[in-house]
Amino acid sequence: MINRCQWIEGKPDYYVDYHDNIWGKPEHDDTALFRWLILEMFHIGLSWQLVLSKQEQFDSAFDNFDYRKIATYDEQKIEALLDDKGIIRHRGKIQATITNAQAFMKIQAQYGSFDAFIWSFTAGKTIIKQQDIHQTKSELSDCVTKALKKNGFKFIGSVTVYSYLQAIGIVNDHDINCQFR
Ligand SMILES: [Zn+2]
Repeated sequence: MINRCQWIEGKPDYYVDYHDNIWGKPEHDDTALFRWLILEMFHIGLSWQLVLSKQEQFDSAFDNFDYRKIATYDEQKIEALLDDKGIIRHRGKIQATITNAQAFMKIQAQYGSFDAFIWSFTAGKTIIKQQDIHQTKSELSDCVTKALKKNGFKFIGSVTVYSYLQAIGIVNDHDINCQFR
């Protein structure tokens, strides 16, 4: 029998795949780091399951999250995205995706990579949960949010950033007896 986090029980395969292979695992690729940040932003006000179910459509609509391309999206492209039923059609979030791609590249220019910037908050270490408590934000996510906002990122708050830190493995919140911990 496979021991997984309790909350994953009854979830569809793509969600289990996310739990087993992504959640809590250190990510160091800048494109993937950008992708999860944007998907977490689209998550705001909606279920994560919905966002995960639309991953492939998001990848194709947003040029596989090539931030260099996204940084140059114009009004015509925004309109096309707003017409795309495969993704979450929210003008504010789509506009923030473009703004955040530009901010992302500024951070890369300043720190060498977004990876270097985002992992500097924990000196490259993953914070592993020590007891089974449910948390939606932390001092760390407050601190990272503040830094992201200072660098021009839009449409993000501490809860979104906490969820992001879990996705990219800076925070590992798997249950104590989950074998994917
Ligand atoms: Zn788990």
